[in-house]
Amino acid sequence: MKIPIQRIKNNEKIKIDTYIKNADLGEQGTLITPIHIEGTLTYVGSEEVFFEGHLSATVELTCVKCLKKFKQNFEIDISESYIPQYFLNTAQGKEERDLEELRVLPYQNGVIDIDKIARDILIENIPPYPLCPECRANQ
Ligand SMILES: [Zn+2]
Repeated sequence: MKIPIQRIKNNEKIKIDTYIKNADLGEQGTLITPIHIEGTLTYVGSEEVFFEGHLSATVELTCVKCLKKFKQNFEIDISESYIPQYFLNTAQGKEERDLEELRVLPYQNGVIDIDKIARDILIENIPPYPLCPECRANQ
């Protein structure tokens, strides 16, 4: 699902409520349920879009200790801003924005790609060394 910036500008706010199937999480895990992402895109000016919402998904992970596969449910609150990729390439963008702290992320080609956002946020929240509930309890 791709939302043109122009549409967000025209409407000021756009509600998102969608399911993303078959998102490829790579080696991080396997998606068991579609990713559910919902929230509001708000145009804040100067090509910047703020997204506030929530994401949920169930992912099958492999325990690093016992190598068993287990399911983990993710419930993630989203609150971040998106600015055009080319803003980040300018000196001004680099100076004024601490990307990690403010959660300002780039978008490309004038569209907000909801599928990509959902996948990126989910992957970011998967622990690098997942432990199954039993191994967690026996730690
Ligand atoms: Zn385990």
